[in-house]
Amino acid sequence: MAYDADETRLRGEIVAVSQAMADRGLNKGTSGNVSARLEDGLLVTPSGVVPQALTPDAIVRLGGSGRAEVGALKPSSEWRMHVGLYARRPDVQAVVHCHSRHATILACAGRPIPAFHYMVAVGGKAFIPLAPYRTFGTLELADAVADALDGGFACLMANHGQIAAASSLAKALAIAEEVEEQAAVYWGTLAIGGPNILSEDQMAAVFDQFKGYGQDG
Ligand SMILES: [Zn+2]
Repeated sequence: MAYDADETRLRGEIVAVSQAMADRGLNKGTSGNVSARLEDGLLVTPSGVVPQALTPDAIVRLGGSGRAEVGALKPSSEWRMHVGLYARRPDVQAVVHCHSRHATILACAGRPIPAFHYMVAVGGKAFIPLAPYRTFGTLELADAVADALDGGFACLMANHGQIAAASSLAKALAIAEEVEEQAAVYWGTLAIGGPNILSEDQMAAVFDQFKGYGQDG
């Protein structure tokens, strides 16, 4: 099939991000899903295809109402969550969702990640919030996630996993990977009496430093 340059690039990036999630242990089997905004709709990974078998043509294009193209594979069972998030967050261009182990352990224990390490700030807030449990695949889950994100870029999802929403696929992947790392370290501190928590002032200073951090601000 012929796509324009934007769609061709995004399809390739979605495949690469899905495979990177598997390679880096963020995902097992077919549980994760990845999407990118495209015009008034989105591109999303198909249901039931392992990342290693994904090709750019297998990525499903959904219109604004969630209608799939004729001939497309079935979209991820979580497609409504992606549609709902793009509707609620005009600033978000890409969404990465996974059941990475330590983020999921905390999510199943009902524990958001507090300001125990300065890198929790990658989620855009002084802590990583926890969205309440909603059935997978529902718009209610999209709403619960958008409420928990509250303008930020990452949250845990109770009894489910984690999600990162960002201005690009590369950023969403990097955030999801960092959230998993933070979750693993926080989980470790809980085993030895719990972490020391950074103060509001200390986290405010972190956000000041982040403004001048990285290549693109
Ligand atoms: Zn899921």
